[in-house]
Amino acid sequence: MATVSSGRIDLSTLMARFDGEIKCREYLESLRWPDGPMCPKCWGTEIARVQGRESVLRCTSCQQQFSVTAGTVFNDSHLPLSKWFIATYILTQSKKGVSACQIQRMLGIGSYKTAWYLCHRIRSAMVEVGRRSQLTGTVEMDETYIGGKHSGVGQRQARKMKQVVIGIRKRNGELRFFHAEDAKIGTLEQYIRENISETVDVIITDELPAYPRAMKGRKHETVNHSDKEYVRLGTDIHTNTIESAFSLLKRGLIGTWHKMSAKHLSAYLAEMEFRFNRRQSETLFQDTLRHMVSAPVLTFEKLTANAENAA
Ligand SMILES: [Zn+2]
Repeated sequence: MATVSSGRIDLSTLMARFDGEIKCREYLESLRWPDGPMCPKCWGTEIARVQGRESVLRCTSCQQQFSVTAGTVFNDSHLPLSKWFIATYILTQSKKGVSACQIQRMLGIGSYKTAWYLCHRIRSAMVEVGRRSQLTGTVEMDETYIGGKHSGVGQRQARKMKQVVIGIRKRNGELRFFHAEDAKIGTLEQYIRENISETVDVIITDELPAYPRAMKGRKHETVNHSDKEYVRLGTDIHTNTIESAFSLLKRGLIGTWHKMSAKHLSAYLAEMEFRFNRRQSETLFQDTLRHMVSAPVLTFEKLTANAENAA
C-alpha cells in the first residue's frame, strides 16, 4: 500500500509514490477508512472488491457497491487521481494560492473550465469543520476592501461596490477571514461575539469609529494608521500580524486570481485561512486529502449557480 511517511513530502517524492490510479485510490481508502473500508449504507465492515473493477467495493452484508471517491469532491471526475493529487499538492503548498490557468498549464488539463472546476472542488474541502473556539489572549482585528477599480464613480461610491473582508487573528495564532456585508457596528459586533472571548486580554484595531461600540465591554486598544502610528511606542499595541495576513491575501488575489467574482470570495478566504493556519504542519497535504474524501459533492451546477451561498 502506498503510504506517506511522517514529515513533509516533496513533489518529486509524491509523484513517484502516487504514479497510478491504484496507489492513489488505496491511499484515499486508508485516509477515509483507517480501520478498513466500511459500507456507507449499513456500516458493515465485510467488504470485497468487485472483480475486474478494482475501484468498486461491495458490502457482503447488504450487497451495496461503493467506492472511496463516490459522494465526495472527486465524484464523477474523469481526471486521473494522480493529477488530483498533484493539483492538491500545489494548492496546499502555494501560500498565495494558485490560479486555475496555471494548474491547467502545469498538469496539461484539456480545458480551462475543467481546471477551474478542479481547483474549486479541492478548495471546497479546504475549510474548517466543526464549531471553533473563541479566541483569547491578544487578538488583532482589521477590515479591508477588495474589488476591481471602478472608474467614473466617487470614492464613497467605489467603496460601496467593493467587498468587505474582516480579519481576526490571535497574535501568533489562529487566523479567521470573513466576507462581511459591511463594516458597520452591528456587523463588527456579530463577528466579535462569535469569535472572541469575553475574557480576551485585549482586542487591537485601527481607529475605525465603529469599533469601540462593537466591543461590548471587551478591552480595546487602537493604533492610528492615518498618523502612521503602526506600533504605539514602547508597547505591544499594533495590528501587524493581521496586516501581514491581509497582505498575503491581497497579493494572492492580485497575483493569482485575476478574475475572481464576489460570489466565490468566501471560498478563497476559507482556502487562505486553512493553509495559513496549517503552514507549519507537516501533514497539510494528507489532511487536505482526508478532508476531500469526507467533503460533500460540489456539482458544477451548484458552483455556477447565482446564489451567494453557492461559493
Ligand atoms: Zn452494507
